[in-house]
Amino acid sequence: PFDVLIVGGGPAGAAAAVYAARKGIRTGIASERFGGQVLDTLGIENYISVKETEGPKFALALEEHVRHYDVDIMNLQRAKALKAGDVVEVELESGAKLKAKTVILSTGARWRNINVPGEKELKNKGVAYCPHCDGPLYKGKRVAVIGGGNSGVEAAIDLAGIVKHVTLVEFDTRLRADAVLQEKLRSLANVDVILNAQTTAITGTDKVDGLTYKDRASGEEKRVDLEGVFVQIGLVPNTEWLKGSLELSKHGEIMVDARGQTSMPGVFAAGDCTTVPFKQIVIAAGDGAKAALSAFDHLIRH
Ligand code: FAD
Repeated sequence: PFDVLIVGGGPAGAAAAVYAARKGIRTGIASERFGGQVLDTLGIENYISVKETEGPKFALALEEHVRHYDVDIMNLQRAKALKAGDVVEVELESGAKLKAKTVILSTGARWRNINVPGEKELKNKGVAYCPHCDGPLYKGKRVAVIGGGNSGVEAAIDLAGIVKHVTLVEFDTRLRADAVLQEKLRSLANVDVILNAQTTAITGTDKVDGLTYKDRASGEEKRVDLEGVFVQIGLVPNTEWLKGSLELSKHGEIMVDARGQTSMPGVFAAGDCTTVPFKQIVIAAGDGAKAALSAFDHLIRH
């Protein structure tokens, strides 16, 4: 069996692999798409010590760093089940069953899409999902935030401090964010809130120039001119395959303690698929290192 088997090859999994391999223990990493979400990212400007890079370049650097060590890399492999035991078993969609003394889950997450015309076509051309990542690109411009839950309202408050104007568009007749956030939002002069509005399209040819929505009360179609749209209707952890085998939060995130330990002995988790607050590359990487050290600690005690 592997000493450490990592499932997921994003920043969290790559960091875990490097840290585990450097302990001289038998390490494997199985992932569907090595690199993870950074493969879909254009510019990265907040990974400390790297002033500026591009997602695909960063993903390649992750893989190169892992390949520098003796790690069994299993690409294009999707895990479908996890079984507890003295030796933990990870079953892949291919039918293969991998055995490991410890497992690190780092399957990441995906932004929920709004699935309107223009979203896919204008991704990274004005359609964004992460205010911490892309907010500064819209300095002095007009943006919309779609979604009035906590993440949408937080994004609108955050962006209002950077951009010229924010329009928050919510489908429901009221915002669902915590009252303190709503209060803060209402105190901001450069934010408009549109309720009961169904976004129907994000428009623009090679970059975003606006969005259209249906006023759900009147049925009327309306338009807002702007340069950016932040879709904030949820981040979905890639943990569907773990339901029933370990403890997940109500949002489907893997519950972890401060050491990355999950509810299953010998199984650790790191990055966007967990309850760790704030989903960022630097956080996921740090988390992966932490989970690997915890797994190593577990191995020397068992
Ligand atoms: P992920 O990167 O999601 O990697 C998950 C890995 O698990 C992938 O290899 C995936 O293929 C694999 N996987 C999933 N399910 C399975 C399965 N069942 N079996 C096997 N493998 C599986 N953060 C920043 O800090 N700065 C930025 O500028 C930035 N920009 C972003 C822009 C975009 C468009 C997006 C989408 C995200 C951005 N982020 C940014 C967020 C950042 O990418 C994530 O926080 C980070 O990638 C999380 O790392 P992770 O390793 O936890 O998960």
